[in-house]
Amino acid sequence: MPVLPDYDSPTALKAFLDERGMAMQKKFGQNFMVNRAHRNRLVDALKVEEGMGVWEIGPGLGAMTDALLARGAKLSVFEIDRGFAAVLRDIFSGRENFSLIEGDVLRTWKKAAEAEVPPRLFGNLPYNIAATVIADTITGGVRFDRAVFTVQKEVALRMAAKPSTADYSSFSVLCQWAYKVTPLMDLAAGSFWPRPNVVSKAVALDRRDDWPACESPELFMSLLRGLFSSRRKTIKNNLSAWLQRPGRLAPGPEAAYVMEQSLERAGINPLARAETLAIADFLRFSDALHEAGVKP
Ligand code: SAM
Repeated sequence: MPVLPDYDSPTALKAFLDERGMAMQKKFGQNFMVNRAHRNRLVDALKVEEGMGVWEIGPGLGAMTDALLARGAKLSVFEIDRGFAAVLRDIFSGRENFSLIEGDVLRTWKKAAEAEVPPRLFGNLPYNIAATVIADTITGGVRFDRAVFTVQKEVALRMAAKPSTADYSSFSVLCQWAYKVTPLMDLAAGSFWPRPNVVSKAVALDRRDDWPACESPELFMSLLRGLFSSRRKTIKNNLSAWLQRPGRLAPGPEAAYVMEQSLERAGINPLARAETLAIADFLRFSDALHEAGVKP
């Protein structure tokens, strides 16, 4: 039976990698969670039950994988680093409830979701990958009952931010459209090896049962990005810049007309800023633009 590395010891982890001629790859945002108490708290936060399906993105050398399997998770892990994938296969492939999907999760998750979307998702990931996975799954209509992510603290706060606050962004709206977002504990840089330059924070996402429908999730997401593209500008100014992209407007009515009609239909003040709007406002606005034939 392969021996697990000592996940709590940076020295032992370094020796484990050295023995295999492996090195950490900065481009993949690799920082191992070396604090056992935090690992246990994160697994607790995921609320895994015996036999429950879980996806873990970015297992690294398997510190969380081991903890998740110990709780009885039926686990699929997504890892991009070939060396780590080989180690994971070596350590865990004998375990009944383990499967590995090697490669970039942004390319592999869809096929896996076609087979089954599990109730739980866990990820300790570089910010851009976490944000893209969250956005892509939501717009692709895939949601998990509960997800726990460890991300940069600012990102966790942005995900949970309320309207008219500095952290409120297109990403806040998208996350809160699909999930109830709850910031959990801070994770100091010293809980990871190598130490990152930022403080991390865990955040929980719980599927919203009252998820309001939207005619075109792609248009909704694109509109959000457009309306928040210059925070200081009014909705009208951001909107007219966003509408100018070729192909966005159906041939026929002029941009000014579409804009005026859609704003009026959705009851949006053109001189307000996007940060003052609630999720329901963005949804009404996106649906009004969709009805006017605007494309994402
Ligand atoms: N979960 C481990 C832990 O807590 O010790 C490692 C976390 S480390 C911050 C991030 C992990 O995500 C690394 O193993 C890295 O190789 C992996 N990763 C980064 N980008 C990825 C991607 N696009 N697809 C799959 N895995 C990725």
